[in-house]
Amino acid sequence: ADADGPVLLRVEDLDVRFPVTTPVGRSTVHAVKDLSFQIRRGTTLGLVGESGSGKSTVAAALTGLVEPDAGSASLDGIDVLDVHGREEKALRRRISLVFQDPFSSLNPRTRAGTAIAEPLRVHRLTKGRQARRKRVDELLELVGLSASFASRYPHELSGGQRQRVSIARALATEPDLLISDESTASLDVSVQSRVLDLLSDLQRDLQLTYLFIGHDLAV
Ligand code: ADP
Ligand code: MG
Repeated sequence: ADADGPVLLRVEDLDVRFPVTTPVGRSTVHAVKDLSFQIRRGTTLGLVGESGSGKSTVAAALTGLVEPDAGSASLDGIDVLDVHGREEKALRRRISLVFQDPFSSLNPRTRAGTAIAEPLRVHRLTKGRQARRKRVDELLELVGLSASFASRYPHELSGGQRQRVSIARALATEPDLLISDESTASLDVSVQSRVLDLLSDLQRDLQLTYLFIGHDLAV
């Protein structure tokens, strides 16, 4: 990757607090405090810290799931934190998130193919059923799974296969930035290293930019 290339994501002085109610009254958790970083296109930034240090909150803020109290974030110059309507939909496509636990991100009653097709439908990226099915097959192949996996339910997949389905789904919108929030943390070491290899191949082939969140510095 080009270490002097253009900056894709720029975060400045990000601050997130959560109001909490405790038995002794109200208080706030200061989850993210004055965080600044930037990621150049096609590169990976590792965000490592112990549990509770605010890593997932950063991911949530960048994907519109929580509203920060202060700071700014921009993707290719587009304000990520204050974006609405059609522009928001276009932006959300460009930032994908893969979570640690595919059991909570994949609906147990939804077949893998349907889960991967959902973002294609929501963002109207394919015309008609046949085109959608073809694209789902392509995405499965991209993550090293055969097309037959489309009809499987999450419980019919191994941990590594589930994570591959989550990655395929995250790639469906052809994002620029992929945020991996401990995506390999629950996998056995050998499976983990194969998923990491996949992520690294995908980065090279699709020129992806990664915000890679983890608690294990070695990973
Ligand atoms: P990490 O991902 O590094 O483990 P988190 O970002 O999940 O950390 O959490 C950071 C802190 O913010 C923790 O103290 C957590 O309990 C708190 N927190 C996270 N989300 C919420 C929420 N929705 N409401 C209240 N507190 C929260
Ligand atoms: Mg977390």
